[in-house]
Amino acid sequence: MTDKKLPQRNELPQEMTWNLEIMYKNSKEWEDDFSKIPELLEKFMAFKGKLKDSAAMLRDAIEASDAMERLAEKVYVYAHLRSDEDTADSKNRSKVDRASALFAEISGKTAWFDPEIMEIHPEVMAQFLQAEDLAFYKRSLEELLRERPHTLSEKEERILGMSSDVMSTPSKTFSMLNNADLRFPEINNESGTKVEMTHGNYIKFLECSKREVRKDAFEGMYDTYNKFRNTFSSTLDGTIKRHVLGSKIRNHKSALGSALFGDNIPEEVYRNLIQAVHDKLPALHKYMQLRCDALKLDKLDMYDIFCPLVPECKVEVTWQEAVKWVREALKPMGKEYCNTLEKTFEQRWVDIMECRGKRSGAYSSGCYDSYPYLLLNFHGTLNDVFTLAHELGHSMHSYYSHHAQEYHYADYRIFVAEVASTTNEQLLHQYLMKNTQDKNLKAYLLCHLLDELRGTIYRQTQFAEFELWMHEQSEQGVPLTPDVLSEKYFELNKLYYGDSVNSDQRIEMEWARIPHFYYNFYVYKYATGISAAVELSQNILSGDSRKIEDYFGFLKAGDSKDVLDIMKDAGVDLSTPKPVHDALDLFDKTVDQLRELLEL
Ligand SMILES: [Zn+2]
Repeated sequence: MTDKKLPQRNELPQEMTWNLEIMYKNSKEWEDDFSKIPELLEKFMAFKGKLKDSAAMLRDAIEASDAMERLAEKVYVYAHLRSDEDTADSKNRSKVDRASALFAEISGKTAWFDPEIMEIHPEVMAQFLQAEDLAFYKRSLEELLRERPHTLSEKEERILGMSSDVMSTPSKTFSMLNNADLRFPEINNESGTKVEMTHGNYIKFLECSKREVRKDAFEGMYDTYNKFRNTFSSTLDGTIKRHVLGSKIRNHKSALGSALFGDNIPEEVYRNLIQAVHDKLPALHKYMQLRCDALKLDKLDMYDIFCPLVPECKVEVTWQEAVKWVREALKPMGKEYCNTLEKTFEQRWVDIMECRGKRSGAYSSGCYDSYPYLLLNFHGTLNDVFTLAHELGHSMHSYYSHHAQEYHYADYRIFVAEVASTTNEQLLHQYLMKNTQDKNLKAYLLCHLLDELRGTIYRQTQFAEFELWMHEQSEQGVPLTPDVLSEKYFELNKLYYGDSVNSDQRIEMEWARIPHFYYNFYVYKYATGISAAVELSQNILSGDSRKIEDYFGFLKAGDSKDVLDIMKDAGVDLSTPKPVHDALDLFDKTVDQLRELLEL
């Protein structure tokens, strides 16, 4: 759709837009709430220095803090949702800016809170934790107290706080070089027109059916990174050193242990994931061989991994059809889930159509005192239907956690954040596979599943393994030079993709372009999350009502338990290799199914 044809916001039919009026009828109501927050902040600040006085005092302080945060979230969420309706609207933009500034002020002024709790004498705290007044907050206090052995003196903490900005210089330099300064060559696209390559269009080139285009883009990309290999290795080395230093300063056994500490994840979970993926590498090699055969190549190369094996199905789906498909696909969740799902449409949780100035993409967002809203830009492709199922998963997860938990424990963690959304995608996949006879659509769906599992389990685990290796090298004092990084990356890539891929040596530079390597052990969560989702969707489709009830337990858990316990109670034990093995067995089976369908 061209920009000219896009409707204005006020031209959209009301039923295609979300109902934000239910949060605030008008700007004045929002301003009223906004102006209440400084008073709530002041009320909270009055507790400073008094937390050790009594269990009741500490409880009142926690409640004052929650009351303030809860309202500030509502004010912020409304502003950002409104602003995303039309990003060019400066009035709504200024609300977002004001709400963000308020958040920054709150976090600056309340920084004393956690340290003051940790300073309460252990014997006094032990009594507090037994007190009726604090019974409800016991879990979150114990979570905070786990940090005590890793917390330094006030003076040391202040110095660390003061140095954190300058310590992030390596990652900022990476971001500046990578996003602002780096220029990629022009590439001849499919129709022979020269187009400047960017981060944004690189994947389009790699998806091109003409091999020359893919090859040119691949070579242009990595030759560019190679020119800056010393700078990129230096920014990466600096960041890894920062993680390692941080873990030592805070008395953690290792950088990995330090990064997993927050979610209380044992290191074995991380190492098991890598081992479990290694066990199933033959399935990835089999898929690569299938790609090679389907593309009729003598040998596959790294730039042949992204192009579609079957042409995209030109399915045009109306909004009503999309809703119907998703509704049917999610039926195995049972009546309760389906009834709640209907609220999405009846109460207008979802903003459906694209309009001028609207934020692109899709998300689920909200707060404790709002609907779990969904923003879409629905154009009626098959992908859009998957996006709807995905975002609905997030929203239903938020809905159930917010309804089952008090505000204090309502928000689920990143570790489980993609589980409900990808479970829904799995259910939609199974539903569509079962209900179509169209061979081309079936092949398309199988490819879609394979590429999703390859990208989320194999690829992210390859990154996770490289990340672990970099930190361990750094812990042993080995400098991460470009040669060291490239040699290891190439070796790992060879291990993952196997002999059916004729790795162009240039892939050794891939480490230089992955922003996630600056995130400190983040990507493994993608792999564990989707593995859990595969297992859960199989449980749900088994029709066993006890297993479905366990799934509801997960949806409702919020942050009331440790993430591994939440998943275990839902039927997925991530401390064992089973969920990853099962997900990759599904991958293996899907490769066979696709080969049969393509008659190769
Ligand atoms: Zn998501």
